[in-house]
Amino acid sequence: MSKTLLIIKPDATERNLIGHIINRLERSRFTVADIRMVTLTEEQARKFYAVHEGKPFLNDLVAFMTSGPVVPMLLEKDNAVEDLRTLIGATDPTKAACGTIRFEIAKDIEKNSVHASDSDENAATEIAFFFGPDAI
Ligand code: ATP
Ligand code: MG
Repeated sequence: MSKTLLIIKPDATERNLIGHIINRLERSRFTVADIRMVTLTEEQARKFYAVHEGKPFLNDLVAFMTSGPVVPMLLEKDNAVEDLRTLIGATDPTKAACGTIRFEIAKDIEKNSVHASDSDENAATEIAFFFGPDAI
């Protein structure tokens, strides 16, 4: 079993899609090992997205991610990071593969409903961010 982090973003919590997304994850054999609901402060969102420092979309992204509650969850599955990236689809929903979560529910390239860790190393950092170092 390996671990990854998924966040349900504010555009999805606002549309009451939490249950729908968890259902899609569980049907794809991910196990929800921990879950929270939190409204991020600007400082927390900037820290989480520190890798995007200097990118033109960062300020808008931070505003969006602090605009309402988000639902981070710790997921377990074999090949968790890669399989979750496949299940969520491309960042831009117009480019996301048919059947992926973003293809189905994302509004646009920013309000794309879910975040998923993109490497085992980043998964460890992101899991610790929301669930503490003992969760890794
Ligand atoms: P995530 O990190 O949320 O799983 P990702 O890895 O597919 O998404 P990143 O390149 O890490 O995409 O970008 C992080 C987030 O920043 C995206 O999910 C999206 O919300 C936003 N974003 C990325 N590129 C753009 C863009 N060109 N315009 C607006 N927002 C963007
Ligand atoms: Mg990313």
